[in-house]
Amino acid sequence: MTTAPSIPRAGERDVVAVQTAEPGAVFDVVGSSPRGLSSQEAVSRLAEHGRNELPRLAERSPVSRFLGQFTDLFAVVLLVASAFTLAAYLLGTPRDVGNLRLAIAILAVVLLNASIGFGQEYMAERTADAMRDMVPHQARVLRGGERVEVPAAELVVGDVVVLDAGDAVSADCRVVEAHDLAVNNVVLTGESDSVGRTADAVSGRVARLEARNLVWMGTTVAAGAGKAVVTGTGEHTEFGRIYRLTARTTPDRSPLQLQITHMARRVAAAAFALGVVLFAVRLPAGGPLVETFVFALGVMVACVPEGLPATLSVAMAIGVRRMARRQALVKKLVAVETLGSTTVICTDKTGTLTKAEMTVTRLWTAARTHRVTGVGYAPDGSVSDVDSAREVLRVAALCCDARVLPPKAGDGWRVLGDTTEAALLVAAAKAGLDVDAERRAAPRVGEFPFDSERKLMTTVHTHDGRTWAHVKGAPGELLARCTRIRTEQGDVALDDRTRAEVLAANDVMAGSALRVLAVAIREIRGARTGQAEAENDLTLLGLAGMLDPPRPEVVDAVASCRRAGIRVIMVTGDYALTAEAIAHRVGILAAPGRPRTVTGADLDGEIDDSALRDLLAGKGDVLFARVKPEHKMRVVAALKDLGEVVAVTGDGANDAPALKRADIGVAMGATGTDVAREAAVMVLLDDSFASIAAAVELGRSVYANIRKFLVYLFSHNIGELAPILVATFAGFPLVPINAMQVLAIDLGSDVLPALALGAEAPEPGVMDLPPRGRRERLFSWSLVRRFLFLGSIQAASATALFFWHLHTAGIPFDRFTAVNPVYREALTMTQATIVVSQFFNAFTVRSDRHSILRLGLLSNRKLVGAGLIGIAIMCAISYLPPLQAVFHTAPLSPVDWLLVVGCGSLVLGADEIRKFLLRRKEATT
Ligand code: ATP
Repeated sequence: MTTAPSIPRAGERDVVAVQTAEPGAVFDVVGSSPRGLSSQEAVSRLAEHGRNELPRLAERSPVSRFLGQFTDLFAVVLLVASAFTLAAYLLGTPRDVGNLRLAIAILAVVLLNASIGFGQEYMAERTADAMRDMVPHQARVLRGGERVEVPAAELVVGDVVVLDAGDAVSADCRVVEAHDLAVNNVVLTGESDSVGRTADAVSGRVARLEARNLVWMGTTVAAGAGKAVVTGTGEHTEFGRIYRLTARTTPDRSPLQLQITHMARRVAAAAFALGVVLFAVRLPAGGPLVETFVFALGVMVACVPEGLPATLSVAMAIGVRRMARRQALVKKLVAVETLGSTTVICTDKTGTLTKAEMTVTRLWTAARTHRVTGVGYAPDGSVSDVDSAREVLRVAALCCDARVLPPKAGDGWRVLGDTTEAALLVAAAKAGLDVDAERRAAPRVGEFPFDSERKLMTTVHTHDGRTWAHVKGAPGELLARCTRIRTEQGDVALDDRTRAEVLAANDVMAGSALRVLAVAIREIRGARTGQAEAENDLTLLGLAGMLDPPRPEVVDAVASCRRAGIRVIMVTGDYALTAEAIAHRVGILAAPGRPRTVTGADLDGEIDDSALRDLLAGKGDVLFARVKPEHKMRVVAALKDLGEVVAVTGDGANDAPALKRADIGVAMGATGTDVAREAAVMVLLDDSFASIAAAVELGRSVYANIRKFLVYLFSHNIGELAPILVATFAGFPLVPINAMQVLAIDLGSDVLPALALGAEAPEPGVMDLPPRGRRERLFSWSLVRRFLFLGSIQAASATALFFWHLHTAGIPFDRFTAVNPVYREALTMTQATIVVSQFFNAFTVRSDRHSILRLGLLSNRKLVGAGLIGIAIMCAISYLPPLQAVFHTAPLSPVDWLLVVGCGSLVLGADEIRKFLLRRKEATT
């Protein structure tokens, strides 16, 4: 092969020569050959010129990101509060060091929040990067004449790339072979129609982006197939140039995040209003101006849910990572919450419900039915009556692009390309055919690639001086194009009776869940071979039935979706009987017998959109078979019109519109096309339906966890505010809890347990409930009711203990002063009651209906740890003299603690009773 001693850098390539050279001469320009580069040459070019990747855009510096945190609304409110408190300290006579401490404490809260926010952003970005890197991105190239798959990032100039419909073009290339090749250049030109490509030379006067023999990185192959030689990689591509000019990362905020930010703002406004009201009430009641002002500020600070946005991002990011561990990569945060509300999953069959491990087990020729033994891709097995089966397998094998690779280093036989084709190649080997020798004897001179619209694939071969079209595809489609059939007596005309026989043979195989392909041939006379000519007037050679066993894990996953009230609808390109047989095996069809099966032909004919909606709105099982991608799109649209939240799987390039139209487009990571992966919001690494079910479960649990920490955070706000309100309106001259204590609670007992709640594992039974309504708001009445219930118990405990402690001293309430030791103890009691009550509350909110004993007291260890840290901080505040000075607290006695723990645990006890009653009611109804 030709290798240039030194290859100029890709960016300096003589682009004009690339475009004007004849296909054969282009290889010299880039120092390559039609057989591609050798592996060593590719490695050395990679080392010399670098990987085929775009550099990361200059990111915002960490300092500017950190400073950005202070522009958040809450941060601004808190900063202003801190400034006012500092001013109160400076202007006061005498100066009250308590105000200085408060100003510093509020500032510390802002700093801490900024650090958490900064950390979260960083973590969320890292997660997103990791996700992006995990999406497999391979390119098929010729290396030393062998077709291999390499990571797209390792493409180098001179590599010969094999292109098929649905592939992403991974580098700038010059086309050297084109079979109906068309690309979509929308990324570069904004033009969404696909444009044809040719291998012919183009005049140097034609602008580069107009040259029909060039394809560009970032674009996709819309149709056809071909080969192209790489002329530019990485930054030295058209896409790289545009990317540098325009690409910006836009943060992706989900509706849920927006909802929470919105709600948090309203809470901040309410806090402000409350502060003003309390100020207005207390000032005329005789409070000194500065102190009353600082008190009102403290109330505002108490209400601001500082940690909320950050906690939310963590909960989402944890969900995304857990999904990745279950083989589901979520590309957009928004998918996490939508997944949780999914009501219908439309799924493919091959590869998603089945293993896509095809084995031809039966062949049918006009002569007889043949059994094929052996399982998997090892060529171990035999074909009965092999002589009459050999021709159908020879013709089929030559019409395949896939390759079956022998085991390497202990693993099994591997397939490169389509598994359906691999099964045919293996069957041919079992029949004693040497496929490579057959390929040399009948070289391929043309092809019309497979597409799921016509469900056929054709290759053209020359053999013994004659030209032949080999066609394989869906039996119904292929039989319609056959006029003759091969029998032991030679080729005879296909009459109606024989056609019916062929279809019956097909149905027998399909009924036992086999995927069936028909194989036909014709001789082509004349120089030019058009597709219409090659795929008509064919002679049917036979049928091949292949077994594709259901994935074992799918049965449970389908059952769990059923329990969760999620409908699973199979939408497949395969034949109705095969589809039904598989659907029965994996449990998609509940009732025995035949379901309502709708085919692509039905959808083109009598079933219009409104009939389709009626059909889908009905109760019975529906199955879609022999459908084309545009039909899938219609099914998705009809379901969405019915108000369903739809997840749909897809792998082909034509599936992109359906994937985009659905709420959750799910692409196949292992076998899907790049276009499908691009259009989807979720990519399944293992292609399995079970991973979709797992992602739905995790999506539901993320939503449930967010609810948990919202209830947790808001119930304690009530616990803090109620004693203050009671004291204010009862005319008690002092506060039952001061601003410094409130801050200590917010940071000591709030943030860590809220984070731990966000990381809760899915609750048992999360898939036993129906999907939540599409319009259900997070801040629903049921959520408010829940935190009002728990918060009121907490508030009652804190208020009661505060006033009880004062009462036991026997001093009239209006005689208390801030320095009275009993008052300081009572202040400490209030804070301790809230902290201890929150400790129990954290366990309470873990489930709305299950007892904590069922969930396991220690099953979320982080939560236990976070709660204990809160209590330890409380003890330090009560017993350490320096902290006593700051918080105005005093040591509590063992009896005090008994009261605190007793009252604090009321939340848990009361809610356990409520849960018990709820479960009993559910059991009796
Ligand atoms: P699903 O949509 O559930 O994955 P599918 O794989 O059968 O089902 P398509 O890939 O659209 O859907 O294939 C449709 C039909 O085309 C198949 O049932 C088969 O008869 C035929 N077919 C599939 N692959 C090939 C191929 N490589 N060459 C020729 N015909 C094929």
